[in-house]
Amino acid sequence: MPAEKPQWRELFAEVVTTGACTGCAACVVTCPYDVLGYDDADGTYRPFHVAEDGGAEDCTHGVRGCTLCTRACPRFRTWEPEIDQHLFGRVRSEEEVAGMTREIVLARATDPELLAAGQDGGLVSALLVYALERDLVDAALVSYLEGDGTTWKAIPGVARTREEVLASAGSRYTYSANTLAYSEALAGGAERLALVGMGCQASAPGAMAARKAGKVARRFQLTIGLLCSKTFDDAIFPELFEARYGLERAQIAKMNIKGVFQVWTRDGGYHEVPLREARDWTREGCMRCPDFAAEHADISTGGIGAYGDWTLALVRSEKGADLLAAMVRDGAAETRPVTDDPGVLPLLEKLSNASRKRGPGTTRRLIPVSPG
Ligand SMILES: Cc1cc2nc3c(=O)[nH]c(=O)nc-3n(C[C@H](O)[C@H](O)[C@H](O)COP(=O)(O)OP(=O)(O)OC[C@H]3O[C@@H](n4cnc5c(N)ncnc54)[C@H](O)[C@@H]3O)c2cc1C
Ligand code: SF4
Ligand code: SF4
Repeated sequence: MPAEKPQWRELFAEVVTTGACTGCAACVVTCPYDVLGYDDADGTYRPFHVAEDGGAEDCTHGVRGCTLCTRACPRFRTWEPEIDQHLFGRVRSEEEVAGMTREIVLARATDPELLAAGQDGGLVSALLVYALERDLVDAALVSYLEGDGTTWKAIPGVARTREEVLASAGSRYTYSANTLAYSEALAGGAERLALVGMGCQASAPGAMAARKAGKVARRFQLTIGLLCSKTFDDAIFPELFEARYGLERAQIAKMNIKGVFQVWTRDGGYHEVPLREARDWTREGCMRCPDFAAEHADISTGGIGAYGDWTLALVRSEKGADLLAAMVRDGAAETRPVTDDPGVLPLLEKLSNASRKRGPGTTRRLIPVSPG
C-alpha cells in the first residue's frame, strides 16, 4: 500500500472542523501555493481553502502530493510527541505537565524603558532587542494593537528595531496569530526570524522542523513562548467590559490577568472584572488546547507569581539557555532564583494540569506523519 500523504483534506477533517484548530496560522504561511486564507472576522480565527483549487474540503495540490500544511500544523495527529522528540530528544513524561525545562528562573530587563513597557518583567522585549541588536535574527513576529490602540484589536506584525519592540510590548488577551506576519517579514528582506506567541503558535516552528516543512522551518531561529490558558473574543469589550462595567474600550490603557481581569483606564482608574464572568467570551480555538506553558518554545514566559515586575522564565532549549546567559553576562537581563517565590511552581503545575484536562488535543503515541 502506498504511504499516506495527508494534505489539506485530512487537516480540514481532523483539525479545522473538530475543534482542535487553534487558529495559529502555521498552515497558512507554509502553503507554497497560497491557497489557504485566514478568517479573523467575528471571533472566527480559522484557516480556509480558496474555492478554485479544490473547494473548502480538498486541495488540488494536495491530491498531487503536497503535504506541507499538515507538516506545519501543531495540532495534527501525534504533534506533541513528534515535536518533543525532535526538539528535546525524548517525549515528555506525564509528570512534566508544563513541558521539559533546563532551568526555571525569574528574569527581567535591566533597561528601564523595556521594563516599564513590558507586561511583567519586560523579558520578552529584552530578548528581542538583544537578538536583533546582536544580529542573531533579522526580525521578530510579534503583536501590535491596530491604529492608535483605542479599538484594542490585536494584530500580527513585524518588529525589526528597538522602537518597534517597545511599541509591541505588553499583553493583549484577544488572539493575534503572530505567525501570519511571516510574509511581511520576508517581504522586508528578513531571513532569520524570532516568533513570539502562546503555546499554539510556539509549537509551530517545532512542528515544521520535526516534519521537515522546508524553507519556512529553517527561517524560525528563536521561539519565545507566552504562558496562556485562554484568549477571548473581541466581543468581550462591548458585551462585558462596557455593558456590565461601563469600561469603554477606547478608555482602557492597560490590562492584565492576575486571578481577575485587571483593567487600568486612561483617567488613572483601576478596575477588576472576575474571570468567571469572562468565561462566555472564551475563544473557541482555546477550548481544547492542552498546552498552558508553551512547551515547545526556546524560552517560555509568564506573569504568574508574587512579583509583578519579574517574568517567570522556563528555559527549555540549549539555544534559549545560551541566549539568557549571554544577556545576563552582558547586563541586558537579570535573574533571581525561582525559589524566591515559593508559590509559583505549584501554581504553574496547577494551571498546566487544568489545560491538560482539556484534551484530546494530543495523543501520547509516537506515530510520525510520513513526510510527503
Ligand atoms: C493571550 C495571552 C494570555 C496570557 N496568559 C497568561 C497566563 O494565564 N499566565 C501567565 O503567567 N502569563 C500569561 N501570559 C503571558 C504574560 O502576559 C506576558 O506576556 C509574559 O509574562 C511576558 O511578559 P514580559 O513583560 O516579559 O513581555 P513583554 O516584554 O511585555 O512582551 C510581550 C510580548 O507578547 C506579545 N503579545 C502581546 N499580546 C499578544 C497576543 N494577544 N498574542 C500574541 N502575542 C502577543 C507582544 O507583541 C510582545 O512581543 C499571557 C499572554 C498573552 C498574550
Ligand atoms: S491549528 Fe494552526 S496549522 Fe493547524 S489547521 Fe489550525 S491554523 Fe492551521
Ligand atoms: S489557550 Fe492560549 S495557547 Fe491554547 S489555543 Fe488558546 S491562545 Fe493558544
